[in-house]
Amino acid sequence: MSIEHLIRVIPDYPKPGILFRDITPLLADADGFREVIDRLAERYQDKQLTHVVGIEARGFIFATALAYKLGVGFVPLRKPGKLPSATYRYSYQLEYGEDSLEIHQDALSVHDRVVIIDDLLATGGTVLAAVELIAQTQARLLECAFLVQLDDLSGVQRLADANIPSYTLCRF
Ligand code: IMP
Repeated sequence: MSIEHLIRVIPDYPKPGILFRDITPLLADADGFREVIDRLAERYQDKQLTHVVGIEARGFIFATALAYKLGVGFVPLRKPGKLPSATYRYSYQLEYGEDSLEIHQDALSVHDRVVIIDDLLATGGTVLAAVELIAQTQARLLECAFLVQLDDLSGVQRLADANIPSYTLCRF
């Protein structure tokens, strides 16, 4: 089955009017999950990455498998208050309120070369926060990659406007 067909739509989750893309059927499908990781690994295998950066929480699933397959390290970007050592924090606006991501200050340095992985790109707020954190570490960002991008939201355009390359396996 294609990757697209393994992502189901849940109407009105987490709130009325939202069409939530649920990736859990894909994760449960051995061939589908392997195809995702193999396609990402093929894209990044000769790019001299030092680390794969994953965004909490669903980004971790793909980022860790990819890091293992590429033979490079994994760096988590976490919700506030979860990382035990000194962090950089970046806050960003949500529809209602704000959220933040953190990275350990010593997780990456100017010598590192990374990709950022998340499951899904919607408005782009989350990944742009991730980009800011990588900039603070001075590591070089090759691009941001997603399993899914939602074309009717502004994320792709916001990344393009910021000159951040992105790559997506399937679009809705
Ligand atoms: P953005 O910041 O608006 O681009 O939203 C992307 C973030 O929200 C990602 O970290 C996703 O995990 C999560 N997200 C937003 N919408 C969905 C969805 O429909 N399915 C799964 N995750 C979603």
